[in-house]
Amino acid sequence: MNAVQQETPQQEQACSPTACDSCSSGSCSATDQQQGESQQQFEERRRLASRLCRIKHKIVVLSGKGGVGKSTIAVNLAMALHLAGKKVGLLDVDIHGPSIPTMLGLEGRQIMEENGELQPVDLNGLKVISLGFFLKDQDEAVIWRGPMKTGVITQFIRDVEWGDLDYLIVDSPPGTGDEPLSVCQTLEDADGAVIVTTPQKVAAVDVRKSISFCRQLNLPILGVIENMNGFVCPKCGELTAVFQSGGGKMMAEDMAVPFLGSVPIDPQIAEAGDSGVAFLQRYADSLTAGIIQELIKPVLSLP
Ligand code: ADP
Repeated sequence: MNAVQQETPQQEQACSPTACDSCSSGSCSATDQQQGESQQQFEERRRLASRLCRIKHKIVVLSGKGGVGKSTIAVNLAMALHLAGKKVGLLDVDIHGPSIPTMLGLEGRQIMEENGELQPVDLNGLKVISLGFFLKDQDEAVIWRGPMKTGVITQFIRDVEWGDLDYLIVDSPPGTGDEPLSVCQTLEDADGAVIVTTPQKVAAVDVRKSISFCRQLNLPILGVIENMNGFVCPKCGELTAVFQSGGGKMMAEDMAVPFLGSVPIDPQIAEAGDSGVAFLQRYADSLTAGIIQELIKPVLSLP
């Protein structure tokens, strides 16, 4: 693995003069060095603030556990925004399962460093960063302790040349532990979270925890998406309930959060993901693509 944890050269330099120094915001928390903060900590905080300043909307995609389709939703949300003409960054910080390079056909791509800044991979204008780009091979397991994981999350936001973005979509590690906490704390003024779940009762328990987690962090909840709700037969079009259905909607009502909608199990979603093209791009005219486009409208239309 490339040592992303190593200090990049610019960490020793002062904040970029083109960012913070030209900012006229009087309310920016990064203007003054805080008591007890070292010069380096101040400069790093400033650099992070100047980076975040240039990103209009920050959206975190969360789930209570892995395998529910969080990365699939993150990829397709980013692609929908990109296809709608927005400037979009997609950050995959799912440290133990960085699947976005595979889902976008970007496996084996290397991250370049220019002027001490990490350059995101450019997919026709969509900017992508994933821990997967730093692994020598896909089978490599990431065995890091907490501080290394939280450090790399901050680095991916602070030290990447994201430029001016309309949206940064962050595919967060699942659960409510240190890693999603680090994501939400680093993106301190994020617009909110999209929480992905599946229809089973056990998943609803996890998603309640995710909702409480967002509330404790004062992170707005943009809505819950229930993925894999029923299977649409490719031959007759009949919808068969595979898991106990409706749990996501009831839970969202019960917890007083918006329910964005349900996505069926669709073999073309899995096939698109495996073949490295976003589903919304590959099967743009399909019924399921229409369903996804409809349920992400509230995110697409953020002011
Ligand atoms: P997570 O990020 O929550 O771990 P992924 O997005 O990686 O989950 O999805 C896990 C697998 O399930 C992937 O192979 C993906 O293509 C597939 N998948 C996700 N949602 C659907 C769906 N609605 N229909 C069919 N396959 C899906």
